[in-house]
Amino acid sequence: MEISEITTLPKSLRLRLVAEGWQIARPAIAKAFQSADGTERYLIEFEGATPKPESAEAVWMPEGDGGEAGDGSEEEAKKWRRATICVSSQVGCAVNCRFCLTAKLGLQRNLAAGEIAGQVVAVLERHAVRVSRDRVNLVFMGMGEPFLNYDNFMAAVRLLVREVGLSAQRMTVSTSGIVPGIERFAQEPPDLRPKLAISLNAPNDHIRAEIMPIDRKWPIAAVIDAVRRVPLRPHERITFEYVLLGGVTDRPEHAREVARLVRRTGLPAKVNLIAWNPGPGISYTMPQSGAVEAFQKVLAEEGIPAHLRQPRGRDIFAACGQLKLTVEG
Ligand code: SF4
Repeated sequence: MEISEITTLPKSLRLRLVAEGWQIARPAIAKAFQSADGTERYLIEFEGATPKPESAEAVWMPEGDGGEAGDGSEEEAKKWRRATICVSSQVGCAVNCRFCLTAKLGLQRNLAAGEIAGQVVAVLERHAVRVSRDRVNLVFMGMGEPFLNYDNFMAAVRLLVREVGLSAQRMTVSTSGIVPGIERFAQEPPDLRPKLAISLNAPNDHIRAEIMPIDRKWPIAAVIDAVRRVPLRPHERITFEYVLLGGVTDRPEHAREVARLVRRTGLPAKVNLIAWNPGPGISYTMPQSGAVEAFQKVLAEEGIPAHLRQPRGRDIFAACGQLKLTVEG
């Protein structure tokens, strides 16, 4: 559709918008990379947003559960799918986590609400997803810190709930611990509030401040205090994301410390563990074989639910930010 066709707007306004260079455009998948495990990563371009198109990354992670096998509904089941879409909230990021490739881009700009929601729509269309039928989870864990682009992030959530039909309860937003953002988030109505994940990544402030300088501004205790104000829905848990860095955060004593920390919060919580994905120019190493499972075992023994997140699409620029840095140089 062209601006000139929006006849509900006065003609003079339409002419002015066109003269000022406004366009109606939708983020488009500029490049797609498919992994052997079915994961697809995209560079999504935002046409017309700036003098030259800019891009951010989004990911599609299909995960069939096979639950229908053998019940005679295979043909129907094939049409169904369960998948997770990961989208970006900013081009680049200012938070500067030391293990993250996106940090190397610096913050280029905030994405507008339509650009955040538009990534989801582009991926849904590519896979012919019918929101009313297929089970789609959405995570705001791509490039950027959503709580440093709070208004646009929440406006995108409202668009996705009201206009696209996704449920906020199937969405998860991950923050590095931006306390004012968490405090605002606590005020959102339950039907428009995604689930909350805290990117913890370390057992204490000493290590965390080394790998996530944001910890010096908002240490773990301040983040937890803010999280306590979020009114959880029945059965809802807070997720603590924990990227294991070889020799830095992956030892059994770290796991015991994480267990104590999570217990002390008194929150219904779970821990998601993921082995760090190597990226060019970052000097950390992956955990030794078996370290992630051993970490999980310690947490389980301490009574903390812990899940392993699969490092999907390791063969296709798996680290967030790697695709953009590699393709665009
Ligand atoms: S891990 Fe997230 S918050 Fe930290 S620099 Fe990377 S994109 Fe930003």
